[in-house]
Amino acid sequence: MTLKRLEINGFKSFGRKAVLLFDAPITAVVGPNGSGKSNVAEAFRWVLGEQSLKSLRGKKGEDLIFNGSSSLGRLSRASVSVTFDNSKRAFAGIDFDEVNITREVFRDGTNEYSINNSKVRLKDILALLAGISLGSSGHHIISQGEADRILNANLVERRAMIEDALGLKIYQWKLEESEKKLTKTRENIKEAEILRREIAPHLKFLKKQMEKVEKAKELRAELATFYSEYLKREGFYLAYTRDKLKKELAIPKEILLATEEKLSALAAKEVSAPDEAVEEKNKLREIEATLREGQAKKDDLSRRLGRLEGMIELKQRESRSATPTVDKLTVSRDDLKRLEAELEGEWQKAKTENNPAVLKRILQNIRQILGEFWGGFKLHQLAPTDNLEMIKELLVEKQEKEKALAELERLEQSRQEEYQLAKQRLEQRENQEREEERESYELRARRGELAAVVRTLEGKLETLAVEEENFKRELGEAGVLIGREALNYEDYPLDEQEALSEKRATQEERHRRLERLKIRLEDIGGEGVDVEKEYDEVLARDGYLEKELLDLATSADSLEQVMSELRQRISDEFKAGVKKINSEFQKFFEILFGGGSASLSLVIPEKRRSRLDLASSDDLAPLGEAMEDSDEPTEEGIEIIVSLPRKKIKGLAMLSGGERALTSIALLFAMSQVNPPPFMILDETDAALDEANSRKYGDMIENLSQFSQLILITHNRETMSRAGVLYGVTMGSDSVSRLISLKLTEAEQYAK
Ligand code: ATP
Repeated sequence: MTLKRLEINGFKSFGRKAVLLFDAPITAVVGPNGSGKSNVAEAFRWVLGEQSLKSLRGKKGEDLIFNGSSSLGRLSRASVSVTFDNSKRAFAGIDFDEVNITREVFRDGTNEYSINNSKVRLKDILALLAGISLGSSGHHIISQGEADRILNANLVERRAMIEDALGLKIYQWKLEESEKKLTKTRENIKEAEILRREIAPHLKFLKKQMEKVEKAKELRAELATFYSEYLKREGFYLAYTRDKLKKELAIPKEILLATEEKLSALAAKEVSAPDEAVEEKNKLREIEATLREGQAKKDDLSRRLGRLEGMIELKQRESRSATPTVDKLTVSRDDLKRLEAELEGEWQKAKTENNPAVLKRILQNIRQILGEFWGGFKLHQLAPTDNLEMIKELLVEKQEKEKALAELERLEQSRQEEYQLAKQRLEQRENQEREEERESYELRARRGELAAVVRTLEGKLETLAVEEENFKRELGEAGVLIGREALNYEDYPLDEQEALSEKRATQEERHRRLERLKIRLEDIGGEGVDVEKEYDEVLARDGYLEKELLDLATSADSLEQVMSELRQRISDEFKAGVKKINSEFQKFFEILFGGGSASLSLVIPEKRRSRLDLASSDDLAPLGEAMEDSDEPTEEGIEIIVSLPRKKIKGLAMLSGGERALTSIALLFAMSQVNPPPFMILDETDAALDEANSRKYGDMIENLSQFSQLILITHNRETMSRAGVLYGVTMGSDSVSRLISLKLTEAEQYAK
């Protein structure tokens, strides 16, 4: 027993909760017209997912909710709940002994579904039911007046019903799901392709950029090595050159300093020397004047002495001859003193005088003084007796004079010595001065030479400083171009001696090559980090899309594979199923009609058939294309072929109402027999049967109830008599349907 319970609450005329238990294989629902029996069948249809309001006899969702009556207010919601037994786990994937499906509708038209109190979507319910052969075509619920629905349906609808009855709905449903998935997959493929096409030019551009970046990287690596060598060599050169120049400069600088010192010492001497020289020259001149004066005095004394000697000689001659007369010079002492004083005065003037004119005048004065002196002399005639006396006197005078002369000579002698000494000193000084001048000249020349050497070396140091600046700048530039590793140039393997022995020109050529490398690097473009990052991202995106496309294609393929398998399975099982149905159909038909024949036959719609013919006659015309541009149903349909016993009637259109009902029942039962649904609801399917056929019908349902639970809404006594459980539906003055359990006798009564 699969179906256990139905609970209706607020659905249509069931304003109050009503519960039906299905404890027997056959349950009959009886009651007067309009009491709400069909609402029970509809409650089943609805809870199992029916979406067509028309088949539920409503226009909108609200129509399904109890609308109120004179004594009971209208409700805001309706719910129906059906419970199945799942102790044999007939419901795949549900590990409970019972499965409860509930559907609710609210006045705003919203529907809610739940399975075992968990909210689910409609499709979950449909999937669940498809698994137990309760498909949505509703072949297991035959509504009132719908017994011949299968006869009225068109070829394709009929096919769907049979597929449903054969339990192929689950495959159809899977096929649809796969189709949806395939459509979605194809959309995704298109989208991915568009995206890939969109990024392709950018990727191409970035790839080109990346090639540049790679090239730049190579160049940068080359530059890094080259820089290391250059910088290391330059470092050696600069350190060595600075050291060398410093050493070279030290000695000349020191000598230059000493030379300067000597020169300034000489200059200081020169400043003080002139005074002493003048002094010494004056002294010499002074001695010369003194010497000249002494000479004059000597000359004067000599002259006087001469005169005295002359006079003496004269007097002596006079004394020897007659009485010689002699001039006797008488000069008083005072006169002499005066003369001496006057001469002394002139001498004092002349002594310090250099001017020749003044000296000349002094000499004239002297001459005048002497003239006046001589003028004062009186010449006396000496008596011969006086001569001897006079001679004596003269001799005394002569002696005096000689003494004075000797004194003068002695004085001169000492002066002469003094003069010689002074002269010697002056000469010495002059010699020294000349020597110093020569030395100064030499020193100046030397200073000039040294200064030139120092200047040259300092110039070289300045050039070196510029080179050192360049080195620093180069290092900075290297840092910018190749990063911090540029600072590791010291690690470059290079021997110092080897480096220093290289010609400077080689290093200069290296520098030029360095510049060329830098320019090339600049030409290629700046930093590649951004490009690299973007390229990696875009490449990853492209790779992702490529992989996704591959995955999508694979899943499209496998979907197509699944679909083709499903189609094949549906087709195979459908054909086999139709075969089985046909044999059952024939049996039931014979039972009901007492003979005749009935069968289902697969038919191809006209249009498609003509196309198929065309395709088979011409292999080149593709079948798919021909089918695609047609709007007409192209699936194979099912035709019902009947032949009544003893009548020449063929074709459904010619059957009577009762015959149609019997044919329908035969087919429905045949379908149910082949793939029995868990339960069937037949709403007054037996309405048109006469007594004989009612019995046959009763036998058939009893037989059928071995495979499917049956809920029969009926007024037919025969049918009622076959039921294990009987429910009566009543509707009182409050217009609310109620359920009561009945005994058969009560039911017979009740149904009237
Ligand atoms: P018959 O034997 O004549 O076929 P029945 O027993 O099958 O009759 P139903 O067709 O099931 O009767 O019930 C119809 C009854 O349900 C009507 O009286 C109708 O007024 C009532 N009904 C339908 N919808 C609602 C609703 N939303 N609220 C209240 N009553 C409703």
